[in-house]
Formats: sequence, C-alpha cells, structure tokens
Amino acid sequence: GVVAARQRSAELEELIRQNPGRFRVLTGDRPTGRLHLGHYFGTLHNRVRLQRLGVETFLIIADYQVLTDRDIADRLDEHVEDLLLDYLAAGIDPERTTIFAHSAIPALNQLLLPFLSLVSVAELGRNPTVKDEIAHSRQSAVSGLMFTYPAHQAADILFCKANLVPVGQDQLPHLELTRTIARRFNDRYGSDAAPVFPEPDALLSAAPLLLGTDGAKMSKSRGNAVSLGATADETARLIRGAKTDPDRHVTYDPAARPEVSSLVLLAALCLGRDPHDVAADIGGKGAAALKATVTEAVNEHLAPLRDRRAHYAQDLGYVRRILRDGNEIANEVAQTTLDEVRAAMKTLY
Ligand code: ATP
Ligand code: MG
Repeated sequence: GVVAARQRSAELEELIRQNPGRFRVLTGDRPTGRLHLGHYFGTLHNRVRLQRLGVETFLIIADYQVLTDRDIADRLDEHVEDLLLDYLAAGIDPERTTIFAHSAIPALNQLLLPFLSLVSVAELGRNPTVKDEIAHSRQSAVSGLMFTYPAHQAADILFCKANLVPVGQDQLPHLELTRTIARRFNDRYGSDAAPVFPEPDALLSAAPLLLGTDGAKMSKSRGNAVSLGATADETARLIRGAKTDPDRHVTYDPAARPEVSSLVLLAALCLGRDPHDVAADIGGKGAAALKATVTEAVNEHLAPLRDRRAHYAQDLGYVRRILRDGNEIANEVAQTTLDEVRAAMKTLY
C-alpha cells in the first residue's frame, strides 16, 4: 500500500539523482477542469522537477477518461486549454516534454485490446479507486469504461515504455495493474532476455493526498478545490470555508486530524518548512490563524505561476500548437510500440 509506495519513492529519488537518463516519465490528467493545489503538490511539481533533471517526459491529456464518470464530455475544448495553460504556468517546457491527448493516438488505443485480455473481470472489479469514483459518479449507469479505464491507463503508460509515473495516492491501484499487465505480457509474449515492457513505478510526492475544502480528496469535479488559476481573493474565500475540527489547538497529525493537517501541510509546502514547525508556530491561535497563514502562503507561492498563466492565456494559438506537435511525436512512438507488440504476439494481419 501507501507505506511501501512512499518507501519505494524515496529509493527512486536516489536512483533518479544518480542517473536521470535511466528514467522515462508518463503522467497526466483528465480534462475535467482547472488544475488545483492537489495536482500541484501531488504530481505537477514533481513533473517539472524531473523534467528539469533531464528525465524524458510524456504528459497525457486523458480525454477518453472523462467519460468514465459522466455521460458526455462537455466544454472539452475549454478544459483542454485550461490544462495546457496550467502546465505551462507550472513550468512544463514543451521543448522538453511531449504533451498529447490519447484520443489523438490510434495506435496507443489499440494496445487496450491485448491488455484487456491479460486481466480478469474480478481484478478490474476490486479496484478501490474505481469503487470510490463510482460512489461519486454523475453517470446514469456505471459504464464498462469505468471498469476498464485502468487497463487503458496501462496503455497510456506503456505505449512509450515509461518506467516512472509521478502520481497521487489514488493512482496506486492503477499502477499496480499496469505492472501486472506489463509482467503478464512479457511472460506470455516476450523472452527473459528481451521483455517488451518495463514494470513502471509510481513516484509519490510529500503530499500524495491533499484534501479539499470539504475534507475529502481535493478533486476538480467535486467542487472542493482551490485551482491554480484562482485569484488571491477567491483563494482566501475558499480557504476560509475549509472544514477543520473542534480542537482549537493546531497540531500536525495526519492520521488523527486529517483536515487540519492537510491545511498545515499545504502551508508548509508553500513555505518550504517542516509541517510540525508550522503547526507549533500557530498552536493555540486556532483555525482562523491557520487559515490566514495558509492563504498568505498559497497566494505568495502561486503569484508567479498565476502571472505566467495570464501571460500564456493571451496566446492560445501557441498553446494549441503545442498539443498538435505533441500528438505527432506521440503517434510515432505509439506506432513503433504497436509494431513491436504485434510482432511479439504474432498477429500479422
Ligand atoms: P477529477 O475529479 O475530474 O477526477 P482530479 O482532481 O481527481 O479530477 P485527475 O485528473 O483525476 O484529477 O488526476 C490527475 C493527477 O493528479 C493524478 O496523478 C492524481 O493522483 C493527482 N491528484 C488529483 N487530486 C489529488 C490530490 N487531492 N492530492 C494529490 N494528488 C492528486
Ligand atoms: Mg480523478
């Protein structure tokens, strides 16, 4: 579970430091709204850091995945634009990172078919993240896509043979399935000497599960998020309304006090401080003082990002071109992998 993944992430950080060239990153987001603080500290910050260390990076806009928990993908263009703006504002460099949308990559999607043959219905059904998403779903009925999207995500990761996936905690079951699919494909169709796919690792950050203003996982589509592009005033209002608990004395204790601790952690990450120290400074001053600290820290930390976001929003032609160019690169990579898969499976037609 999470403890093992955290430990593995610490080991990976050391390996990345030693040899960034060994790694290839794939990670991404659903175009369902603006990115928020959970994305930023859960994965986006790591993506930018890895890119700067020279790790080859692919960034997927998972548009088919929008349809897992709703019947139609409304305002898709706007949501895709929002993601691109958030990426650029956060420091993703399109010269070094390939940004693409999976619906634009037919060969990637074709990998889903052999991959589905490698997993059982029971395995798909017991995925805890899928269960949670079904509980929050806006769909009229639970679709087959909801159960199969983790296998689709394996195709997203493996089409470019990524071995490192910076994600939040909710993605751990999906990563486990991706590893299973890679292993079974290699066992069935590869040779020990030449496995077709790597078994990718999840890379967790210091905030693998940031909570939203209602105390549940901060999510784009649950109305509990502080988005990166929000104004300073909106940020203040949202954080003022965040759920805390009756204990006036502020402490950092994620297991016992998840809501208060998530706020403390948020301030600590923005300030580059230890969360225990941040909590100790506030102590008996209470939740209102905590929220004031968080608001100021977030607004200060995000100010340059928000300026850059506004700057890129002036040139949406450029922003759109980035996606077109990225799609072209991803298509070439996907075709190469699909050819290899077909050769290994001996599907010749
Ligand atoms: P939606 O509600 O539409 O599913 P989301 O906020 O869950 O949106 P996703 O696009 O599903 O965002 O997730 C993108 C990435 O961000 C994943 O790696 C996920 O683990 C990570 N992430 C999302 N929310 C959080 C959070 N609250 N804390 C840490 N990481 C998060
Ligand atoms: Mg999600």
